[in-house]
Amino acid sequence: MLAAAGSVPTDAEIFMKAVGDLLTKRDPLRKAERAAARQRQNTAGRYIPAAVRHQVWLRDQGQCTHMHPDGSRCQEKMMIELDHIDLYCRGGEHSASNLQLKCRLHNNFAAAGALGNEWYRQRLEFVN
Ligand SMILES: [Zn+2]
Repeated sequence: MLAAAGSVPTDAEIFMKAVGDLLTKRDPLRKAERAAARQRQNTAGRYIPAAVRHQVWLRDQGQCTHMHPDGSRCQEKMMIELDHIDLYCRGGEHSASNLQLKCRLHNNFAAAGALGNEWYRQRLEFVN
């Protein structure tokens, strides 16, 4: 890698680079800083914490929660997604009480319906 940078490194340069990289990787303070940065990244934005995801999957038993007008529940267990009841784009939080499992079809239709897409709204009526 050092040679690829343009010059052939000496053994001492290779050794110093290797020690520097090792210290960067193993230094407890630097490791803690990287972990804190990952944590900040994971709690921001669209990331839903694993504990919350697992709670919702267990509660909903891995099945779409959409209810048809006849009172029956959608039987889909494939292409399951986490759906925000209060939409994430409108400030809905990543909590188990605000999340439910939906199949891709019902998730897309519900979101598009909530966001005002007339075509999806018509499709939602068709699927029901
Ligand atoms: Zn469904």
